[in-house]
Amino acid sequence: MSWLTRVRQRLPFLPKRETPDNLWHKCRGCGQMLFTREFEENLSVCPKCDFHERIGPEARFAQIFDDGWVRLPSPAVSEDPLKFRDSKRYSDRMKAARASTREQDAFVNAVGEIDHQTIVVGVQNFAFMGGSMGQAVGSAFIAGARAAIERSAPYVVFTAAGGARMQEGILSLMQMPRTTVAIAELREARLPYIVVLTDPTTGGVTASYAMLGDIQISEPNALIGFAGQRVIESTIREKLPQGFQRAEYLLAHGMLDMVVDRRQLRDTLGRVIGLLMPQQQHA
Ligand SMILES: [Zn+2]
Repeated sequence: MSWLTRVRQRLPFLPKRETPDNLWHKCRGCGQMLFTREFEENLSVCPKCDFHERIGPEARFAQIFDDGWVRLPSPAVSEDPLKFRDSKRYSDRMKAARASTREQDAFVNAVGEIDHQTIVVGVQNFAFMGGSMGQAVGSAFIAGARAAIERSAPYVVFTAAGGARMQEGILSLMQMPRTTVAIAELREARLPYIVVLTDPTTGGVTASYAMLGDIQISEPNALIGFAGQRVIESTIREKLPQGFQRAEYLLAHGMLDMVVDRRQLRDTLGRVIGLLMPQQQHA
């Protein structure tokens, strides 16, 4: 015990230092210190440089729905089917991710309204093991698509992922065809499937449901790709162009329909859904 601690113990009237450590937010884009409250009121977009910070399901639902929403239960899946262990046990990684995010896994659905039109929204959570796609993510995606079909509502998905969840091996890759079939079910039901790509969307997620939207929207400057830039450069032995795999580059090359600032996203989605679901308007 240090002498200072000893002195403090004898002087109980000295208050503990109480500065909330979340009062300030440092922008990852420009490095400016921002008031967390002001930053969040600006939908977690930096007012100085327009950097879009990653957000989780709860913040996203609050930004997108008119008011109020109901979370849909995610189907139960067999956990850690391969009893996988690298430097840590997969089960321990799951426990840590659940404790830090207070979510069960990396994909959550909710139902609510946007411009008075019913929609089902699925949000992939990068904070949960890099948003990686395992059985739970695939099953939640399918449940979201079917919930949309039940309600004759569009399915809007916000993607964010480092790729497949390697701790589930081949079972994580199986989610690519599974989710693709769920999108085919939406199509058969003639319901719009809208994707909003957020930073970063990569790997097996890009190679499946993230790129199969009827409308492909992205947030500004989101990293979108399959393999990483360095892997591609060393494979083709060529330098890749500036801005490669960024939303604006993909828009310019015909891979996206729109790049939309988060502060206009709700209005844009409402308008697009109003056009695609005209019978629901003013319902
Ligand atoms: Zn900034």
